[in-house]
Amino acid sequence: MNFPKVFYLREVFFNISTMFNRRDFVRSSVLAALATAVSCKPKPTSVQKSNPHSKKGKPVVLATWDNRNATTAAMKALQEGGSALDAVEAGARVPEADPNDTSVGYGGFPDRDGHVTLDACIMDHRGNTGAVCFLEGIKHPISVARKVMEQTPHNMLCGSGALAFAREMGFPEENLLTEKSRRAWEQWLEEKEYRPVINIERHDTIGILALDAQGKLCGACTTSGMAFKMSGRVGDSPIIGAGLFVDSQVGGACATGLGELVTQTLGSFLIVELMRQGYSPQAACEEAVVRIINRAKAAGVEEYQAGFLALSKDGEHGAYAVVKGFNYALYQNEQNRVYEAGYKLSL
Ligand code: ASP
Repeated sequence: MNFPKVFYLREVFFNISTMFNRRDFVRSSVLAALATAVSCKPKPTSVQKSNPHSKKGKPVVLATWDNRNATTAAMKALQEGGSALDAVEAGARVPEADPNDTSVGYGGFPDRDGHVTLDACIMDHRGNTGAVCFLEGIKHPISVARKVMEQTPHNMLCGSGALAFAREMGFPEENLLTEKSRRAWEQWLEEKEYRPVINIERHDTIGILALDAQGKLCGACTTSGMAFKMSGRVGDSPIIGAGLFVDSQVGGACATGLGELVTQTLGSFLIVELMRQGYSPQAACEEAVVRIINRAKAAGVEEYQAGFLALSKDGEHGAYAVVKGFNYALYQNEQNRVYEAGYKLSL
């Protein structure tokens, strides 16, 4: 009497398991077919678009704006046996020390209360990071950022804490407000207009990426931030993922321009992640710019500039900006040149 029942149960089990197996088989076949279809589908050419000036080859140094003095210093550091980290630090220190560069370090335009406050970050090929923000009185915030990375268990130090640490590390304190920047601030005080302006003079943050001959990729970013900003304002430049991001397995990216929009879209991280998915450095920069434009529309921001640079682990680069006017320096294959970046919006 039990037989049929067992048999019946076995039948049911068999039928169910066959059903499941068949269903699984059908499902996995469909999934496999879809996966094959997706992987065989050629990537759209826009994703692989290359920059007209891009070549491959190591070593390479890439920097925002016409910072050829910085790319020279960085390449010199590499040629003298320094690491890619030494190179980006050496490069970033050039505009930091330049009193005529009113967007970085010494001589940077102050905030609306007349204080020069500096932001910087650095990232090495292992993914280690260091940053300082709202730092006053120290000419080389990039070197303080490197010390934060190498000498502390933290990623970022801010304001008086960053200053105390810099003093402890032996950095000299100095007045960073030059006569030229003080005059510009006094002129600004007459109108006190507080809004971002598309003005290359006010967007000179240096983001610098270096790839050494062994394929180690590092980056640095340093700025005095938006001219005449509110006291305490920190932009994208010291924020890892916004002003700078590096992954030696993929590539690196850095940003300049209206920090609020770059931070809201985590532009540099986005670019590196797009490159990881197969985007060329150029296509990734273009996509990041489109995100900025969409974000600006949503936020009702009318006038702004933002620009990105990207460098792949093979030495291929990309560059793109919201509007005309963004240029960059590329030192590669023994040539140190400045190029105009492409842009999305015509004014
Ligand atoms: N990104 C910088 C900031 O927002 C400024 C700039 O690059 O113009 O602080």
